[in-house]
Amino acid sequence: MTWCSSGTGLRTLLICVLTLCCVPAGGSDRWVVQEQRGSLLMYSEFEVDTERITAELSEVDSELAETTGIRATEGRVEIVLFASRQSYLQYLSASVPQAAARRAIFLKNGEISQIYAYNSRSLVVDLRHEMTHVRVHQHMPYAPLWLDEGLAEYFEEEEAARPRSSRREAVRWKARVGISPTLSTLERIPSAESMGAEEYRNSWAWVCFLINDSAGSRQLLQGYVRQIHRGEAPGKFSEYAAAENSGLLSRANSYFRKMTFPLTFVSSEE
Ligand SMILES: [Zn+2]
Repeated sequence: MTWCSSGTGLRTLLICVLTLCCVPAGGSDRWVVQEQRGSLLMYSEFEVDTERITAELSEVDSELAETTGIRATEGRVEIVLFASRQSYLQYLSASVPQAAARRAIFLKNGEISQIYAYNSRSLVVDLRHEMTHVRVHQHMPYAPLWLDEGLAEYFEEEEAARPRSSRREAVRWKARVGISPTLSTLERIPSAESMGAEEYRNSWAWVCFLINDSAGSRQLLQGYVRQIHRGEAPGKFSEYAAAENSGLLSRANSYFRKMTFPLTFVSSEE
């Protein structure tokens, strides 16, 4: 098993596992559901609404592509679902001890991406979160941690749920008393293990700003993603943004005071 981090100074959350020997055991009667839809394979220990899961995940794919330019590849994605946390831990704890601290985990083995999760009320949210990581790492050779987690936190919620997100009130309230999330602080986070609730929320808030402030902020995010996708090294996002659109980042604080989620932008808006 290998942990990956990029050699460029920008770290990825990605955990690479070279071999997870018994996953998922083909032909085993362990799996009540074994289903393939295109490049997506689902294995489950319990009856699960694969129709709904597929619909939710394709919604993530289309929204990600539209807002950020991140696109799914043909690479195989295996989703392995366990009936309980206990079963999930039994299956993964020896080979992936990091799974113990999470409700779900994403692993990458070459072109194959795997998502492991267990049955809970937040299963769909967990799968949307992990699928966002899958798509980010299929599309980009590396991703800054705050961006990777911020996107996953953003797309884990369905569009209609975002304005009601409890995180929204927390960010707005703090911004109104002068405490806004700072990008430079997020860019210094050394590893996923050092991220707590505040770091996740602040990463989410920055992604909300970039996707929703204006057509200009969205284009800036898309440009950054495109450069990394092409194998270029645009450096830290804060530096890239300052060079591309010097005034844009100064708008973040006023966005954090409102945290709106417009569906479209008027074409004349920056
Ligand atoms: Zn994540």
